[in-house]
Amino acid sequence: MSEEELLYDCIIIGGGPAGLSAAQYASRLALKTIVLDKSKTAGALAFTNKIENYPGIITPVTGAELLDIFRTQAVSFGAEYVESQVIGAMLDNPTKEVFTMEGVYKGRSVIVATGAMGRKPSLKGEKEYLGKGVSYCAVCDAAFYKDKTVCIVGESDEAVKETLLLRRFTDKVFIIAQTENRKLLENPQLIAQNIKVLVNKRIEEIRGGEVVESIVLMDKTSNKQEILPMDGVFMYLHGNAPIVDFLNFAVDISDDKCVITNRMMETNLEGVFAAGDVTCVEVRQVLVAAANGCLAALSAEKYLHHRKRRKLVWG
Ligand SMILES: Cc1cc2nc3c(=O)[nH]c(=O)nc-3n(C[C@H](O)[C@H](O)[C@H](O)COP(=O)(O)OP(=O)(O)OC[C@H]3O[C@@H](n4cnc5c(N)ncnc54)[C@H](O)[C@@H]3O)c2cc1C
Repeated sequence: MSEEELLYDCIIIGGGPAGLSAAQYASRLALKTIVLDKSKTAGALAFTNKIENYPGIITPVTGAELLDIFRTQAVSFGAEYVESQVIGAMLDNPTKEVFTMEGVYKGRSVIVATGAMGRKPSLKGEKEYLGKGVSYCAVCDAAFYKDKTVCIVGESDEAVKETLLLRRFTDKVFIIAQTENRKLLENPQLIAQNIKVLVNKRIEEIRGGEVVESIVLMDKTSNKQEILPMDGVFMYLHGNAPIVDFLNFAVDISDDKCVITNRMMETNLEGVFAAGDVTCVEVRQVLVAAANGCLAALSAEKYLHHRKRRKLVWG
């Protein structure tokens, strides 16, 4: 095969909703497109047990089922899909190189869509019950916990915000802080909403059968354990880190380690775009990731064809 034949118009790193939406738009715009995806089961959507807020999907589906639909649609428009982990990239030149364990892929544009599952589950039971009572996203999952007992683990502003959101669905809400956090104990909104604030406690284990049933708490002063019945555990310990290690700071990364883009998903490097949870997006949702992917592909097409404006995609 000639060099030209091996050169992709668009290499998409990551096969979640952001990457696969980008692939669908790019291939439908006749760009030679490949998706390099570490694994069909590794992204945030793949972990999700039940999705009922993606427009057009009326009956709740699992994340894996929704991903299958995204993937089938992208491939039907001509995108290649390869399961392979990207370990490095050279992105400054017009021909960009993307490195995997199996070989090097060359492309004229790259879309980074690797998501934000970089934080490793650290608590006993956290990984096992992810999507079965353990969640990282109250906006996504609060509706599943109507009138149930839930706790938020963490003490950041985000944790407090998500606690108040959960309180709209149930009055049995705990927030658990590892430190003697006076600010949390005296927070007027938490007091007004009758939220139980537990400070100086550490979660030792999340337990259950098919789904979460209880948590084991350790009081850090008395060193005594207690078991609290629990239906949902929302983790806000360190946030979810965007997966950017393989980029080695090739593009601008924020202090929070997310890829900085403008509103058309362009990074600081020509021909390099990013979409979905890996970017500094405020709302991490499938719909937002998919919309980002669409914009990134349109921006890539505009860059490749030296257009002044993005192409219209209907008709
Ligand atoms: C438990 C849970 C429940 C959720 N529930 C909902 C919900 O109900 N509704 C909703 O709208 N949103 C929900 N979300 C959020 C939603 O799943 C994410 O916002 C969305 O999946 C982000 O899409 P993405 O494509 O950016 O990233 P991801 O879905 O994380 O996909 C990233 C992809 O990149 C791949 N990848 C990572 N590193 C590499 C690499 N080095 N090389 C190649 N490929 C790589 C991964 O394998 C993965 O396929 C939930 C998230 C979680 C964790």
